[in-house]
Amino acid sequence: SNPSEEWAAKLKVVEKNSDGTTQTRIIRRTSSDFKFERELGEGSYSTVMLAHDIHTEKPYAVKVLDKRHIVKEKKVKYVNIEKESLNILGRRNGIVHLFFTFQDEYSLYFVLDYASNGELLSLIKKYGSLNEEVTKYYTCQLIDALKYIHDSGIIHRDLKPENILLDQDWKIQITDFGTAKFLDKDPSTGAFIDDGRAKSFVGTAEYVSPELLNDKAVGKPCDIWALGCIIFQMIAGKPPFKATNDYLTFQQVMKVKYAFSAGFPSIIRDLVKRILVPIPGDRPTIKEIKKHLFFQDINWKASETSIWYTPP
Ligand code: ATP
Repeated sequence: SNPSEEWAAKLKVVEKNSDGTTQTRIIRRTSSDFKFERELGEGSYSTVMLAHDIHTEKPYAVKVLDKRHIVKEKKVKYVNIEKESLNILGRRNGIVHLFFTFQDEYSLYFVLDYASNGELLSLIKKYGSLNEEVTKYYTCQLIDALKYIHDSGIIHRDLKPENILLDQDWKIQITDFGTAKFLDKDPSTGAFIDDGRAKSFVGTAEYVSPELLNDKAVGKPCDIWALGCIIFQMIAGKPPFKATNDYLTFQQVMKVKYAFSAGFPSIIRDLVKRILVPIPGDRPTIKEIKKHLFFQDINWKASETSIWYTPP
C-alpha cells in the first residue's frame, strides 16, 4: 500500500452533502496545525517536542522521526511496530495515546499524550527510592496496564522506568512500543498463543530475563520479569541486576544473582522473590500476582476507584 495513504488514513472524514450524498475528505493534519514550544527529549532516532494544537490549545508530545535516518539505520520496522501497537491499544489508562500520525518530506510525526511529569526513572532518582505506599500505587497501575497489553496480544519486551511516563495527575503512561512483539492467534479459538518463542534480542540489559539470554525465548513472563525488576528498583533505588558492563549484567541475570538491602520490606521482598525465578513457567502470572498479600487491600475489579486512586 502507498505509505502516504496509510499515514493519512486516520484523518479521513466522511461529510454529508445537502442532497444526502456523502463525500470523503482527507483533512491532513500537518506540522503547521501545531505550535512547537520546546524539546522534551531526544531518542536515538527521534526528537520529542512539546507542541500545542493551534485550534484547541491542547498540549501534545510530538515525536519527530527523521525519515532518512530511519531508513539508513534500518529502523522502519520498529517505527511501524510502535505505530501499530499504539493503534491496537487505543485510548486506555496506563498507555500513552497516539492521536495522529502524519508526515512531510523529511519527517514522520507521532502526536502523543503529553506526560508532563516525566519518567518514573526521574522520580526514583529524585527521591533516591520510593516508599511502600508509592511503590504500591505505581505497581498496581503497571499490573493493570500490563494485563491489558497482554490481553491485546502484545508483549512489550522493553519495560523499564524510563519507558514509564507520568501524566499531570501522576498516572502512568507506558511508552516505547518499538520493540513490542505481536502474539499469533490460534485460528480455531481466536485466542492469542503465547508459545514463548520470538528469536530476537531486544530490550535493555538490566531488565532482560534469563530465558531470553539462554534460548531467546520471549513471552508474557519476560514482561513479568521486568515488572519484578522495576518493583525492586522502586524500593531499592537501583535495579537488582546491574554491573559495570552489559556482559557482567547478563551473568548476574542468568545466575539470578541479586541481594536485598537491609530494611527492604519483607512483603515486597516475598513478591520480588516469587517473580525473579529463572524458569519462565515458574513465574507467577498477572492473575496470581494480583492475589499476593501486598495487594490484599486492592479491589482490582473497581480499577477506576481503587487502583487509579489519588496519588500518595
Ligand atoms: P531511544 O529511541 O533511544 O530508545 P527514547 O525512547 O528515550 O530513546 P523517545 O521515545 O524519542 O526516545 O523519547 C525521547 C525523550 O522524550 C525521552 O527522554 C522521554 O522522556 C521524552 N518523552 C517521550 N515521550 C514523551 C511524552 N509522551 N511526554 C513527555 N515526554 C516524552
